[in-house]
Amino acid sequence: MKKNQTGSTEPAMFLKFLKEEGIEEIYLPSQDAVPNSHPEAKPKDLKPQIFRSPAKIRGGQAQNDNPLPVSVKDQLLQLREKVLQCTLCPELAETRKSVVFGAGNIKAQLVFVGEAPGRDEDLQGLPFVGRAGQLLTKIIESIGLDRKQVFICNVLKCRPSGNRPPQPDEVLNCQPFLLKQLELIQPKIICALGTFAAQTLLKTGQPISQLRGRFTDYPDANVKAKIICTFHPAYLLRNPAEKRKVWEDMKMIKKELESLDD
Ligand code: URA
Repeated sequence: MKKNQTGSTEPAMFLKFLKEEGIEEIYLPSQDAVPNSHPEAKPKDLKPQIFRSPAKIRGGQAQNDNPLPVSVKDQLLQLREKVLQCTLCPELAETRKSVVFGAGNIKAQLVFVGEAPGRDEDLQGLPFVGRAGQLLTKIIESIGLDRKQVFICNVLKCRPSGNRPPQPDEVLNCQPFLLKQLELIQPKIICALGTFAAQTLLKTGQPISQLRGRFTDYPDANVKAKIICTFHPAYLLRNPAEKRKVWEDMKMIKKELESLDD
């Protein structure tokens, strides 16, 4: 075998040498690929073109000045890892069976936000899978969507034991995760399910009966979305007569989604 530039006869060593020199690509000559080459030119007459990486040429270390942007999916996966490891609320971390990050379409135009996982959600690690969840599925289907087209999550990612209401310090600990989820997904519509989610997202103490039934701008500059509040499905299970109002709210969401398509 003919010796190469390094004096080595080993192709692998030659490639190593090129790599160390910052040479990223070698364009091997091909008679067909070279325009206007002489019909009698032989491959050996054509010199390989060697391209050095810009970082190396600038005398720097072989590092990329423009790192590839991390995709939304990867950022959500990283956030999920962080949430799964979270122990900021010692009691919740101690009693939980799983952390319920949220589920659905990460490119969803519509995100539902509930209060906190219950027993079934804690066991399965998924949001809204118990009785209230089954009703939520029907509510979503009533406007011609399915659960895979929306994203569903909660203010708290861990179940408060005995289904007690979330405590203010727990909300403070967990809220940044929800805000980051919304920032990454960038939904057009956020639907807060029940008093707790509505008051947390809108930073208000107003009752859900006064908050529901209208769109407002979501009050976080990092997410350009409209927010609408409605009754929690668990409340509807206890007060079925209120389903009509939720239907009214869902029709508003449907109309808003349709207007986005125009
Ligand atoms: N209630 C909620 O608020 N969230 C769930 O995930 C389940 C029940």
